[in-house]
Amino acid sequence: MALNELKTMETYEIFWTGGFDSTLRVVQLSRYPICIQPVYCTGVASDIRKSEFYELRAIKQITELLRKKPETKAKILPLKIVSSSEVLKEKQDSDFIYEELPHNHQVAQAFRRIYISMMTPRRKQLATGRGVLNAVNVDLYIDSQYQWLAAYSNSRKKPVEVGITARYVNKFLDAIGGGNAVEEINNGYFKQYVINKEKCKSEDGYTIFGNFAFSFYNAPLKPELIKEYKRLNCEDIMDLTWFCYDPIDGKPCGQCWTCVHTYRDGITNRFTPEALERYHKREKELSNQQ
Ligand SMILES: [Zn+2]
Repeated sequence: MALNELKTMETYEIFWTGGFDSTLRVVQLSRYPICIQPVYCTGVASDIRKSEFYELRAIKQITELLRKKPETKAKILPLKIVSSSEVLKEKQDSDFIYEELPHNHQVAQAFRRIYISMMTPRRKQLATGRGVLNAVNVDLYIDSQYQWLAAYSNSRKKPVEVGITARYVNKFLDAIGGGNAVEEINNGYFKQYVINKEKCKSEDGYTIFGNFAFSFYNAPLKPELIKEYKRLNCEDIMDLTWFCYDPIDGKPCGQCWTCVHTYRDGITNRFTPEALERYHKREKELSNQQ
C-alpha cells in the first residue's frame, strides 16, 4: 500500500475485546479501504479483567490472520491499550501501543447515577443466596466497563465505535431515555448509529453514550453473528475469539457468566468435557436459586 494512499485513509477507532461480537465488527470493517485503530480499555488496577491475557493474545492472533486475508482492504493499526498510569507501568509489549486513561469526573458521576438507578429496583434479583451479586444476571445492569470506555471516547474528536450486545440493548436505551435519540449516519463506507444530543432525554446517558458510534440499532443475536462469520469466510477467526472471564488451565471455565451465556447462546463447541460438567452444575445451582 502506497504511503500517500495511507495518509488519505480515514481512521476509525473501535473498542475491541477479542470477544465474539467486537471481533466480528473488526472483520466487517477490515473489508473497507479505511484505517482501523482498535482500542482495548482496561480501566484502573482494581478493574483489570482476569481474562486480559487471553483477550490480548486472541487480538494479536486475529490481527495477524486478518492482515493476511486476501479480502482485507483496511490497514489495521496496532492495538491501543488504554489504562491507568499504575497499570501501564507494568506493560511493555511492543506489538501494542499504550495510552493513559483520561480522568473524567463528569463521566464517573454520571455512570454512578445510572448504575445506582438500574441496580436499586433489582437488588433482590441480583443478590444470590450468599449475598453477593449474581453476575449471571449481568444483563439487568450496566457494566462498569462503560465508564472507562466513555472516559476515553469523550476525549476523542470523533465517536468511537462500541458494540452493544443484544442483551444490553434495552439497558442502553433506558440509559439514554428511549430510542428516539438514536440516529443513522453514513460515513461514505458504512452506516453507523450515533446519539443526537438534542433528542437525548438523559443528560447522564448522553455523557456516557454520547460519543460512541454503534454499528447496529437492534443488536443481532449470536446465531445471526455466526452466520455472518461464515458469510465472511472467517470461521477461523471466530474460533480464535475469547469469551471466558475466569479461565481454568488456560481454557474456558464453563461456569463464569460469559461462559454460561456463550453456551446458552448456542456456542457449545468451545468447551472441554470438564468445562461442560462445570457448566451443567452451574445451571443447576442457578435454577435452585430462583
Ligand atoms: Zn468462563
